[in-house]
Amino acid sequence: MSELLEAVSRLRADDLPVRGGKVTAYVYDTGRPEVHEAAARVYFEMLETNTLDPTAFPSVVAMEKEVVGQVADVLGGGHGIFTSGGTESIMLAVKAARDSLDVARPSMVVPVTAHPAFHKAAHYLGVSVIQVPVSMETYQVSPDDVAAAITPSTIMVVVSAPSYPQGVIDPIEEVAALAAARGVPCHVDACVGGWLLPWLREAGAPVPPFDLSVPGVTSLSCDLHKFGYAPKGASVVLFADPAMRRKAYFASAAWPGYTVINATVQSSKSAGPLGGAWATMRALGREGYLELGRSTLKAALRLREGLAEVPGLRVLGSPTSSLIAFGASPSSGIDVFVLSDEARRRGWFVQPQLSYAGIPANLHITVTGVTLAGVEELLSVIAESAAAARERGPVEVPEGLVELVETLELDSLDDTAFASLASSVGVDLTGGGQPEMAVVNTILDALPAPKREEILVRFLSMIYT
Ligand SMILES: *Cc1c(COP(=O)(O)O)cnc(C)c1O
Repeated sequence: MSELLEAVSRLRADDLPVRGGKVTAYVYDTGRPEVHEAAARVYFEMLETNTLDPTAFPSVVAMEKEVVGQVADVLGGGHGIFTSGGTESIMLAVKAARDSLDVARPSMVVPVTAHPAFHKAAHYLGVSVIQVPVSMETYQVSPDDVAAAITPSTIMVVVSAPSYPQGVIDPIEEVAALAAARGVPCHVDACVGGWLLPWLREAGAPVPPFDLSVPGVTSLSCDLHKFGYAPKGASVVLFADPAMRRKAYFASAAWPGYTVINATVQSSKSAGPLGGAWATMRALGREGYLELGRSTLKAALRLREGLAEVPGLRVLGSPTSSLIAFGASPSSGIDVFVLSDEARRRGWFVQPQLSYAGIPANLHITVTGVTLAGVEELLSVIAESAAAARERGPVEVPEGLVELVETLELDSLDDTAFASLASSVGVDLTGGGQPEMAVVNTILDALPAPKREEILVRFLSMIYT
């Protein structure tokens, strides 16, 4: 056993730390180890239980009803499903909308700031995506633009509470009302905000109505493995109408084996994540979440204020949530991708976001319950990294490289050829402890989205070679 654990520890040596708040994306730490231990204990207890057959394991039904019930109580009611994550919740919401409406060539209306999970769901489910721009000041979608994009084939409109990139809440009441008037379902993507905004509101933040209590909202996704602080594999999708939830389900009796009735995309799966979410919610309770909400709000306000004081940097929009994006003014000489690498060298991870739909490249910070304790250190690391980035200047991509990549027929290269091409221009794609990502991000940033996607797929295939 100790050998196994040593091996794991060696494998994880270059991983970003999952606790402590220095990684401002991907992980959510309460700062209370006993909560994570309770989750791990119950996760382990439920590990080998299969959620496939609820009649075989009634504990699954009881736990799921408790978890989903709590989410529904806070977010305006409805009928839910416990899923493995935001992507699966969104997949089920799109499937339910598609199968409720039954139009010939289904499409959905999605702000450019909506999560790629909608594009993925659309791709898997044969739905096309109509993207709607957002304001370059507020980063919100305009209800008029959404209204204009709706056609007889629209099976759903999407709004976010908040959108991940800039942390702003779309005009949900207006969009939901206009969708309802046209008979179109409206999904609120509260994956990141669903278990955060209610506590921020109670702590004094001006959070507008965003949940199933808003007339016209037909479904909502809320990830518990984000601000629910549960181990990964935990999300809830809620439907206002139980008939719509049934459209998310899938049953098959078309074989001679056991009858299949699935609420989720996966069939056999561990009840561990459900147990972990259940235990986290019990261990924290309403008071625990509210307390985390208070410190999250404090940290977010301090961070916004502090960022405004760093020469050359500016916060994008006015985020209502605790997700903050900041960019560098063009005259500052600060390359945000270099800033990100500099911060990583100082032990902090801030997430680069590529430019898209007129929104400039920027850096993203998810402020959580533990951020407050280190917020001053974070601010000084950002200030130092900005100064260092100014000193180093923007990344210089070898002359002609972007044009070369843009015209490259990637299909004609195998993974090895791709890797040697990358290393010939000084880009090491093999991973490792402190990757310099600025060059990679700069090249990606200069390319159109479909080319970026092609390269990303190549990259993934390469690192798994
Ligand atoms: C994280 C997130 C998702 C997708 O969630 P996963 O759990 O990573 O599948 C969808 N929408 C928003 C706004 C998110 O922040």
